[in-house]
Amino acid sequence: MIPLLGAVLCGLLLGQLLTLVALRLPRRMQWDLERDVALAHEELGREPVPPVGERPTLLRRGPECLTCGTSLSGAGAVPVVGYLLRNGRCRACGATLPLTGPVVELVLAGAFLALVLQLGATPTALAAAVLVSMLVTLAAIDGRERLLPDALTLPGLWLGLVLNAFGLFVDPTSAILGAAGGYGFLAGSQWLFGRLTGREGIAAGDHKLLAMIGAWLGWQVLPAVLLLALTSAAVLLVLTRILRRTGGPDARTEVAFGPYLVAGALVLLCGGAKYLSALIL
Ligand SMILES: [Zn+2]
Repeated sequence: MIPLLGAVLCGLLLGQLLTLVALRLPRRMQWDLERDVALAHEELGREPVPPVGERPTLLRRGPECLTCGTSLSGAGAVPVVGYLLRNGRCRACGATLPLTGPVVELVLAGAFLALVLQLGATPTALAAAVLVSMLVTLAAIDGRERLLPDALTLPGLWLGLVLNAFGLFVDPTSAILGAAGGYGFLAGSQWLFGRLTGREGIAAGDHKLLAMIGAWLGWQVLPAVLLLALTSAAVLLVLTRILRRTGGPDARTEVAFGPYLVAGALVLLCGGAKYLSALIL
C-alpha cells in the first residue's frame, strides 16, 4: 500500500514541477533565440535589440499567474486541489489558469501508480517513471505551443539507448532499430507527403519524439504507438468537427501530433498492451 500511495504522491508533486518546466521552457527558448539574434546583429555591426527582462527561470520560483505574474502560493499551490480551490482562475486578475497543471499532475499520478502496480517498486519502474515524466512534459509543451524542444527529445533518446545498452527494457539492437526506425518512418512519410501535396505535414519534432520512444521501448512497439496515436487523433478530430457544426469551438487547422504519440506510448508502457491485445483478439 505504501509504494502505491508513494507513487501517487510523487506523481502529483513531480507533476507540479514539470508543469512549471512545460509553461516556462518555451518562453526561455524564445528569450535565448532573441539573445542569439541580438549577438549576431552585434557581430555584424548592426544595432542589437536585446531580449526584454532577465532570462526566464525554470524552477527557481514557485508557480505564478501567466497573465499578471502574481505568485500562486499557500493552499492554492497544492497539486490539483489548488486549481480547484481557485476555481481555475487567478484571484488577483481573474484570468483563467492553464488546465496544464492539474492534467499533468493527474496523468503522472495515474501513470506512476500503473507502473508500480505492474513492475513493483523496482529500478525498472523508476526508469520508466523518468520516461513518463519526459513524455508528459513534451506532450504538455506540444499541446500548448506546437513545439517539441530538442532540449528534451534528444537527451531522452540518448538516455533510452544507454539504458538499453544494459538491456533494461529491450535488447540494444531493438533500441537502436527503434530510434532509427521511429525517426526514419516519420521523416520518410513527411518527405512523401510533401512531394505529393506540397504541404508540410508532420513536424520534425515528432520524428525525434518517435525516435525517443523507439530508443526506450524498441522497434516492436512503433506500429502500436502509431496506430494508437492516429486512432485517437482521428476520433478527436471527428468530435471537434461535430462540435464545430453545432456551434462549438473551432477546430485548429494544424493539430499537434506529439500528445497523441505520447498517449500511445503511455498506454503501452502502463500495461495497456495486454488489454488491447485481448480486445483485438
Ligand atoms: Zn493573474
